[in-house]
Amino acid sequence: MSEPERPIDTALFDAHTAASDDFYRHVNGGWLDANPVPSEYGSWGAPQIVHARNQDVLHQLLADAAAGTEPRGSAGQMVGDYFAAAMDEEAIAAAGLKPLEPLLARIDAAESVADVRDIVRDLQRCGPGPLHSLGIAPDFEDPGAYLVYVGQGGLGLPERDYYTRDDEQSAALRRQYVAHVANQLGNLGDAEERAREAAEHILAFETRLAEASYTAAQLRDVQLTMNRYAVAALDELMPAFGLSSYVAALGVTSASVSVDNPGFFRALDDALAGTPVETLRDYLRWHVVKAFASALPSAFENEAFDFYARTLAGRKDMQPRWKRVLNAASADIGELVAQLYVEAAFPAHAKKRCEEMVDHLLSAMGRAIRSVEWMTEATRAEALRKLDGFNYKIGFPDEWRDYAGLVVERGSHVENRMRCEAFEYARQMGRLDEPVDRGEWAMPAHTVNAYYHPLLNEIVFPAGILQPPFFNAEADDAVNYGAIGAVIGHEITHGFDDEGSHFDADGQLRDWWTAADRAEFMRRAQVLVDQFDEYAVVDDLHVNGRLTLGENIADFGGLKIAHDALREALAGTAAATIDGFSPEQRYFVSWATVWRTSYTDEYLQLIVKTDPHSPARARVNEPLSNLPAFAAAFEIDGTSPMARSEETRARIW
Ligand SMILES: [Zn+2]
Repeated sequence: MSEPERPIDTALFDAHTAASDDFYRHVNGGWLDANPVPSEYGSWGAPQIVHARNQDVLHQLLADAAAGTEPRGSAGQMVGDYFAAAMDEEAIAAAGLKPLEPLLARIDAAESVADVRDIVRDLQRCGPGPLHSLGIAPDFEDPGAYLVYVGQGGLGLPERDYYTRDDEQSAALRRQYVAHVANQLGNLGDAEERAREAAEHILAFETRLAEASYTAAQLRDVQLTMNRYAVAALDELMPAFGLSSYVAALGVTSASVSVDNPGFFRALDDALAGTPVETLRDYLRWHVVKAFASALPSAFENEAFDFYARTLAGRKDMQPRWKRVLNAASADIGELVAQLYVEAAFPAHAKKRCEEMVDHLLSAMGRAIRSVEWMTEATRAEALRKLDGFNYKIGFPDEWRDYAGLVVERGSHVENRMRCEAFEYARQMGRLDEPVDRGEWAMPAHTVNAYYHPLLNEIVFPAGILQPPFFNAEADDAVNYGAIGAVIGHEITHGFDDEGSHFDADGQLRDWWTAADRAEFMRRAQVLVDQFDEYAVVDDLHVNGRLTLGENIADFGGLKIAHDALREALAGTAAATIDGFSPEQRYFVSWATVWRTSYTDEYLQLIVKTDPHSPARARVNEPLSNLPAFAAAFEIDGTSPMARSEETRARIW
């Protein structure tokens, strides 16, 4: 990883592509040509580069912890022993399947759906989570209290469409999936012929679940997916399985839960009853292996890499072991790792400057809400009340999570993983009766990401993303507003996108829009849906305008309000030109720069099918083409591809 580059470097532009034809290529052509995807990655751009840099910082800290002798139960001991156990490939090879034997023996002894049910319950607690998902979050009708959310799940392929599409490429992927499952069952000791047959049956079983599953786009529809059920009434959905007592046995002490897709659970009940127990046993064995493959001997890990990374994501080489271990540690003991990172890499002055930017962005959103012509006063007042209620978190939590009681040892890596999973599960269920902890973070502080949480009405920016090129303490305002500023604006706008707009200032699912305003908003959003649906990524594969709508509204809105915030920040100062670019131009160049990304073909196809974010070129160019301020900054006239006409422009914020 080289040091951060200059914020704007015209040597990385493409002199042969005009800004008015393809701004993404114009600004990034030189960089894209010089930066093919490294063999360990499926894509390569600022998020991956910053992540790799953060990993380098953490590598040394974890190695130091592993070499140290901190007292048992301390952060240093847990992080150090986790790292040491996971890095010890010889011990992992020598232990073989031994750590999983009790679990596998229980699965082998299952003789009925009732036996399967008890095992599934325990697998929910320790990681593999077969058949469905389960988690807690603020109650959508009472956001001060927690609610358990039970969701569709149980698939080994990334999304339902992988099972249901009938094109040749999808059929070929399913054949490769069956071969992969058979290979893993073979690694468990099954004879080749038997493993092959079992894998076919597993695919058939998962296909039944997939057919009843919502699409990725449907899962974003909160009115469709938030459905309160009394726990006592859950048997309605799965009478044969006995969903009520199963959920209670999972430790759910509350009277009700939310179910995302009731039809899925009905279909699951039928699928379980209609599938031989032998296949269900194989299905569970497969999902145990799938969950823990990266912590097992290399035959399992290599096989998993081959299918999930190489075939599905186009990654050619495995990352070095320490990086894989670091990713696992981030998932299992994230806030312990995060503490080390923050001490080493997040100075206090960075937090202060980001807070100022968030304040500017929130005021800009307020101006946007007050000035949009399509909102009636009733809706506008509610929108402003919601904006007033926004909470923000920057850098890292005020109080770190307490891991007291978690046992991490310098022994079996798989056992550490299972204990971490069980600890987190118990932590979640243990506070069902407590008021919602508003200080909690949903991702560790070293993560290169940010989020809006509709049930908490808050935006969160971990220290991990507050690094160059997203946030560059050495760069001028225009560059920072085009990068982290637009990201902050993006997250704020999520509070008002097709999903976030259903939640009010308190995080309650409540329709605070007048019917006419909602209809007008959706009519305007439809313009973006159509623009992105038309966008061809490779061959005849197009962006899914519906799946990416929320992110596209957020990009478009974020870019617009960050631009307004920049103007406010620069008001009264002379418009200094740097390297020949005005602040306005630097703002838009910075936006195009932070999202430049190289992809493998496979990874590009994977994200177009599953990721609610549009691929980079569309992400950069489409919002810009709708912004008159962009056309003005580069003197682009209305007949160019980068400037949509008055009639075809999207107008939301
Ligand atoms: Zn987003």
